[in-house]
Amino acid sequence: MVQVLGAGGLDEIVRALRAQGRTVVGPVVRDGVITHDVIDSAADLPRGWTEEQDAGRYQLAPTGTDEIFAFSSPSTSWKRYLYPERTLLIRARRRRDVVEIHEPEPEAPPMAFLGVRSCDLAALDVLDRVFLDPDATDPTYAARRGDVFIVAVACSFPGNTCFCSSMDTGPTPRSGFDLAIRELHDGASHDLLVEAGSTRGAALLAEVESRAASDTDVARAGDSHDRAVAGMGRRLRSDDIQRAALDPDHPRWDDVAQRCLACANCTMVCPTCFCSATEDSTDLTGTESERWRVWDSCFTLDFTHLHGGSVRSSTRSRYRQWLLHKLVTWHDQFDASGCVGCGRCITWCPVGIDLTEEVAALARSDESVPREGAAP
Ligand code: SF4
Ligand code: SF4
Repeated sequence: MVQVLGAGGLDEIVRALRAQGRTVVGPVVRDGVITHDVIDSAADLPRGWTEEQDAGRYQLAPTGTDEIFAFSSPSTSWKRYLYPERTLLIRARRRRDVVEIHEPEPEAPPMAFLGVRSCDLAALDVLDRVFLDPDATDPTYAARRGDVFIVAVACSFPGNTCFCSSMDTGPTPRSGFDLAIRELHDGASHDLLVEAGSTRGAALLAEVESRAASDTDVARAGDSHDRAVAGMGRRLRSDDIQRAALDPDHPRWDDVAQRCLACANCTMVCPTCFCSATEDSTDLTGTESERWRVWDSCFTLDFTHLHGGSVRSSTRSRYRQWLLHKLVTWHDQFDASGCVGCGRCITWCPVGIDLTEEVAALARSDESVPREGAAP
């Protein structure tokens, strides 16, 4: 079922989702970036905005058109709505000699995600494999993920740091959505093609004013997909990944370690990174204490701290762990890549480290691996 929305169709979708009692989260312009937040109507979406992304660089820019989805990966991913940055695990109170332990029930707010890119759909699938493993289901994630209504949006404007087509995760959503939108804008016309991917998606689409898509509409969508693939800023070759994993003593590991600040930005923005730490705190009187799960990163020194010190004490070992876990050993653990090609880690690395460039360099056996822009 593929329909073309009328002028107010997107707003009708938001209204219908809100009428179901859902909090609708979508892309918004905030603090100089396109990010995600709660939206009340389609007017909150970044109509007329795009962005320029490159290694270590992000610049919001007006499109001069009324396109709504003319951008690529928002600065933050969806994982924070399913796996929050901080989760209270236990609260303990001491009353005289009795300690009461309270374990909060996981919250399950009814949500709808509007504007999920194809790479981020693949990232949700990766998180599902991690957190919904029948042998180790995470209750917080399971409660939040259960009923989320997903409105995906195909990418027509991949960013300069995107490489989803080489990871086979985009730019057009194929599954994992209730509705999928493709925005078609060519100056003369501005249409939103909507495909239902589930029964409840079809039911919602039937509530909205629309017409059946014509062959011409579908052909325009195909052209838009082809242009997006051709405009993809970067690529990651799978044979390079295999070669990069072979040499733990490759000099490029030292080279990247000299540039890496071990700031953990790449893991915070990554839609699939899921590591956490457990923090305990007590109040000043010693009668109440809390245990929180908080996002952590394999780039921090404490992450592998055991008795006697950190297992990965060098930045070299931490960067190597991150890159090879994402691209290689993740397959052994979860039967999928830990990287979906969204490009966020490249854009938001303060020193512009680009994993596609690092993998290409590591795949070469000669030691004189030039880096773009590096002094000879
Ligand atoms: S490793 Fe980088 S490009 Fe890959 S999914 Fe994570 S943030 Fe996106
Ligand atoms: S690769 Fe970049 S973002 Fe990641 S830890 Fe190193 S400096 Fe920070």
